[in-house]
Amino acid sequence: MLNFKVLYASLRYTKTNPMKKIEHIGIAVNSFDVSIPLFEKLLNTHCYKTEEVASEGVKTAFFQNGPNKIELLEATSPDSPIAKFLEKKGEGIHHIAFDVEDIVAEIARLKAEGFTVLNEVPKKGADNKLVAFLHPKGTNGVLIELTQEIA
Ligand code: ZN
Repeated sequence: MLNFKVLYASLRYTKTNPMKKIEHIGIAVNSFDVSIPLFEKLLNTHCYKTEEVASEGVKTAFFQNGPNKIELLEATSPDSPIAKFLEKKGEGIHHIAFDVEDIVAEIARLKAEGFTVLNEVPKKGADNKLVAFLHPKGTNGVLIELTQEIA
């Protein structure tokens, strides 16, 4: 027998697929000197880029391994959000980033669904992306990043 509640829910969420795929996983680390060689060994590939995002007080290092992308995050100042995260939780997974087609539309959709968007205007992130973050209090403790490639 058809479960109409499930059918309705699946129709609602498959009309469009705005959260296309996981774009990368962000990992907070204490030191690039230690962690870049470690992830190069782990993934058997070179770090293809490091980039500072001064506005966030963070340095980023990127690895691409097949379809999978990892971003390491190192704090550049003691009052950066990454420094605070490391102080509170230690090294580990910091956020999950989703690739979206239209970040402005996604921000509006997620706001309407009741999520708290930390920056309602997308900002320039690392690796040629526009980014926005959802507050982890509304997403089971996981910081969610939306990313859209800058054309
Ligand atoms: Zn990220």
